[in-house]
Amino acid sequence: MRIARYVVGENPVYGVVELAEDGGEHPDTILALTGDPLAGPVKYTGERVHLDDVRLVAPVIPRSKIVAIGRNYVEHIRELGNAIPEQPVSFLKPNTAVIGPGEPIVLPRVAREVHYEGELAVVIGRICRDVPAERVADVVFGYTVANDVSARDLQKSDVQWGRAKGFDTFCPLGPWIATHLTVEEASDLEIVTSVQHADGTRVEGQRASTALMMRGISELVQFVSSWCTLLPGDVILTGTPAGVGPIVPGDRVDITIEGIGTLSNPVVAQDA
Ligand code: MG
Repeated sequence: MRIARYVVGENPVYGVVELAEDGGEHPDTILALTGDPLAGPVKYTGERVHLDDVRLVAPVIPRSKIVAIGRNYVEHIRELGNAIPEQPVSFLKPNTAVIGPGEPIVLPRVAREVHYEGELAVVIGRICRDVPAERVADVVFGYTVANDVSARDLQKSDVQWGRAKGFDTFCPLGPWIATHLTVEEASDLEIVTSVQHADGTRVEGQRASTALMMRGISELVQFVSSWCTLLPGDVILTGTPAGVGPIVPGDRVDITIEGIGTLSNPVVAQDA
């Protein structure tokens, strides 16, 4: 199923999305849930709303952290002129960087070159540490789409990447969490990123498969959980394929991952 978080009145609530492609009786609707499915058991409330009538928000605000993996696709490593790492490269993004579908990515005044990075995101469902690769499916709640927005100039000039990848709005997540995909299915999904410019022209930047990851989902969850405890709602970003590129005010970034959905965010200047 697809678990979305959306706003009714002022309060975000969770619900199960039914799409036309699911072939059910209620296409493009959300069936509301009680509570937070990442925190405990939930039930249907019986209330159903149309997708067009609600505002989706980030499907999860990580309780403790977003752990991102860098340099995990060979062609992306090459396009930026970096070396293939012997160990996985991991870094943290603050949960304050998270925004939801449709919310603007704000380009900081201090950054001159900001790039999109379309990525598969793994949402953790259980507290866990030292997860063996063969047990990873037990701790995964589901998958969503992420944009690991990166100030490329600051990434090069700062020794650490915390600022370059940690600005407010630099971690769009959504549109919802797909919980029906197995680890194997999520390991071979097409990922496409395009940018629509203010003049209406559209440029496709990334078209790849999650099968091209150097280290796959199981290896990454095993690796990350070998150095930190993962909590329900924590998010692991699995790295970006080749084709990253700059975004400017007026653009809209659309990242589609097969079987999950499309995450779209406009781009604005700070204090615009
Ligand atoms: Mg990245």
